[in-house]
Amino acid sequence: MTEPFVSAHNSFYIIKDWHEAVPGLVAGFSTKVGGKSTGDFNSLNTGFHVNDRPEEVRANRQTIGELLGFPAETWIGACQTHGNRIEGVTKLDSGKGALHYNTSFSDTDGLYTNEKGILLTLCYADCVPLYFLSRKHERVGTAHAGWKGTVLGIGFHMVEQWKKDGITPEEIEAVIGPSICKKCYKVDNRVIDAARRWVNDSPLPFSPVIGDPGQFHLSLQHLNELILIKAGIPKQSIRSTKRCTSCSTEFFSHRRDQGKTGRMVGFIGWKERVSS
Ligand SMILES: [Zn+2]
Repeated sequence: MTEPFVSAHNSFYIIKDWHEAVPGLVAGFSTKVGGKSTGDFNSLNTGFHVNDRPEEVRANRQTIGELLGFPAETWIGACQTHGNRIEGVTKLDSGKGALHYNTSFSDTDGLYTNEKGILLTLCYADCVPLYFLSRKHERVGTAHAGWKGTVLGIGFHMVEQWKKDGITPEEIEAVIGPSICKKCYKVDNRVIDAARRWVNDSPLPFSPVIGDPGQFHLSLQHLNELILIKAGIPKQSIRSTKRCTSCSTEFFSHRRDQGKTGRMVGFIGWKERVSS
């Protein structure tokens, strides 16, 4: 399978074939390179909630916005809580959570829209970004899936919500974005027990750590893929990245950096006018 995330600039990756096949669609994931933040947040931190200086976070967001052709004022962001609440948004929400954290959608880990000219944004450092597209219905969505959001089935809930709006799972494509890989992600029984409810047969998305009882390596990417399949999206319509936020030093990693780190932004939106 070809890698969906291709570097478009040292500050971000894009989902290349969506970009090429769907006029005006912009979807991708930032790196930590090319920003103004310093110290633990060096340098392209986009998270307001991690005690970085807000003016530098704003500048970083504006830099990415200019590069993408989606000014920060068109972004929509959320106070992410590792839950499974999903919000449908419109142009009227433009700018919420973009430059001031206190204007974000509260307790929200998933966003979707049918409207153009807005960029759905969520922040990450190891958690899994999920991207959703229905070309037929001109809808895009995104969700933040750490282990908690994953086992709460946020990906499943996104599909359920779209089904209520008349979109069948066969009409949905999904991409699983840069996040911590199985080798880098060690978890205990508590997480695995919660994961098991989504898994009914092999290959399992986790395996025991040899010589360390009760510890497992978990692929959150694979687990999310299984959950999206369970929701009805055809397997061939789901693609997953090989890029790991912990293996690669171009990303912030909550695990690798022991909690003191910045956040990348995952984004998806339609441009209002397609320029050449
Ligand atoms: Zn890794």
